[in-house]
Amino acid sequence: MRKIYLDHSATTPVDEEVAEIIRIYYTEKYGNPSSIHSFGREAKKALEEARLRVASLIGAKPEEIIFTSGGTEADNLAILGVAGAGQSKGGHLIISAIEHHAVLETAEYLAKMGYELTILPVNAEGIVELDSVGKALRPDTILVSVMHANNEVGAIQPIEEIGRIVREHGAVFHVDAVQTVGKIPVDVEKLGVDLLTMSAHKIYGPKGVGALYIRKGVRISSLLHGGSQEKKRRSGTENTPGIIGFGKACQLAAQRMTEEAEKLKKLRDMLLNGIVERIDCVKINGPLGDLRLPNNVNVSINFVEGESLLLSLDMLGIAASSGSACTSGSLDPSHVLLAMGLSHEVAHGSLRFSLGRQNTVEDIDHVLEHLPEIVERLRAMSPLYHQAAKKK
Ligand SMILES: *Cc1c(COP(=O)(O)O)cnc(C)c1O
Repeated sequence: MRKIYLDHSATTPVDEEVAEIIRIYYTEKYGNPSSIHSFGREAKKALEEARLRVASLIGAKPEEIIFTSGGTEADNLAILGVAGAGQSKGGHLIISAIEHHAVLETAEYLAKMGYELTILPVNAEGIVELDSVGKALRPDTILVSVMHANNEVGAIQPIEEIGRIVREHGAVFHVDAVQTVGKIPVDVEKLGVDLLTMSAHKIYGPKGVGALYIRKGVRISSLLHGGSQEKKRRSGTENTPGIIGFGKACQLAAQRMTEEAEKLKKLRDMLLNGIVERIDCVKINGPLGDLRLPNNVNVSINFVEGESLLLSLDMLGIAASSGSACTSGSLDPSHVLLAMGLSHEVAHGSLRFSLGRQNTVEDIDHVLEHLPEIVERLRAMSPLYHQAAKKK
């Protein structure tokens, strides 16, 4: 059966070139970067090259990059690290309502520990409104965390403008850029961020590797103590093959990003428009055009369950996601769609397709050929759909 992968916001295949370099650093150049012999020095040199590659993709200096076990750890390190570096206990944190669980739950954990938390609302397109940021800031605000683009609906946030407001106030500004790094230009100077989260496996690198950009001078406390790797900010023997693979993935992303984004935008709009043309009672979630990630398609198809759609698509070899990969398995509707004002029913019928490097026009045609039949079959069992159809 033909298989079509349209879930690149959950993870991506490792690029062949990346896989090859990882293999070499597992089996041939396997030294511990902390060792002083030639094996260690060889690994250390490659590790530092990778740091340079990661840094240059986001306009940072290599010494501002700390490698972690992924986006989740980088988000935790940013938030817990800023809280831990605070002089006094407690304080005020601000996050947006559409953050990834790695930010949301870390902030909620701190709220349980005595910190105060303000959650910024978003508009119907899933975008944080600037005046809400100014209103939420307080004298005791220590951290503001707003993601660069949302993983479910692809909404790109006005980070540069938020950064300006936060900087004027003097709080630390963290941005989860897992979904934008390597897809659209990310420059830490232009965006005015203090901390920025990245993950390798969303950009054709390996799973279990990520990084936190920490602007020079920003103080954070460590989560892991021990061997004083990563300038004592993240102890533990480095995942050298993974980090080197991450570096390679960043280098490839820098080379391919512009061309790839253009291609993906065309496929994205083909799929979005095709769904709206072929299926009735459909709502596009998230903004259109340049405020949307080049690879994101998210629609609510009324009178069907997102989970049933996913299963039917899966039987045809098509891999998509209902909202967020992290929430599948639970039947709670996505917090992102609810924050955008969708009802539980409409949120439940939502479907995310996230496109990637290998997708083609034929893939999109294939989905557009089969999705309408699937929806029709599922709706045939829905009394609500029949009622709504009669009214029209
Ligand atoms: C995937 C993702 C993460 C988590 O990254 P991991 O490397 O899988 O831990 C964090 N934030 C966003 C926006 C993501 O899409």
